[in-house]
Amino acid sequence: MGKPPATFIADSLGLDFLNSVATPADAPVDWLDSGNGLIDWLTQAKLVPSDELNALKARATPGELDKVADQARALREWFRGFVRRHAGRPLTEAALKELGPLNSLLAHDEAFSRIEPGHDNGGALSLHRTRRWRSPESLLLPVGEAMAKFVCEEDFADVKACEGHNCTMLFADHTRRRARRWCIMAVCGNRAKQAAHRSRLKSRQ
Ligand SMILES: [Zn+2]
Repeated sequence: MGKPPATFIADSLGLDFLNSVATPADAPVDWLDSGNGLIDWLTQAKLVPSDELNALKARATPGELDKVADQARALREWFRGFVRRHAGRPLTEAALKELGPLNSLLAHDEAFSRIEPGHDNGGALSLHRTRRWRSPESLLLPVGEAMAKFVCEEDFADVKACEGHNCTMLFADHTRRRARRWCIMAVCGNRAKQAAHRSRLKSRQ
């Protein structure tokens, strides 16, 4: 059975990676449950160019890709622990000593710059960052980069968990009044409203 599309509601890709396991309806869905799942999620996250994904998929055995998905889930759950420990207040330099696993992942990167035609502001050429995608494990590198950017650029005081009952989604609250409470208003917000409505009706009986 096909999975629903992954959700990208966190306003930060590093957190959306944590939301790649969630309970959108009644049953939990893990978008990274297999090598193919990981590739689908990376496609939806636009983290790996699709020609590179296709080339890697053609070269790798399903077993190799499943192994990378195992690693991705382990990375995700390690990072969830870090984010949950630090959410709600600004990070301090002391957090760095917990980030060894992420720095080790980043150290494997084979990134380089390349001059390409075209430019957003009309110029003839532009400089693009890219990387060599040698092994299936290299699929974890853009994920690591998104996590690292999140750690270095996001104010952890704005990192919140959805208040929805049984909802595990995390997001960065960038609303002006920092009043965001729900992953998706139409899902968890409405559910909470309906529950409140039902309990009001009940208390009148
Ligand atoms: Zn929610």
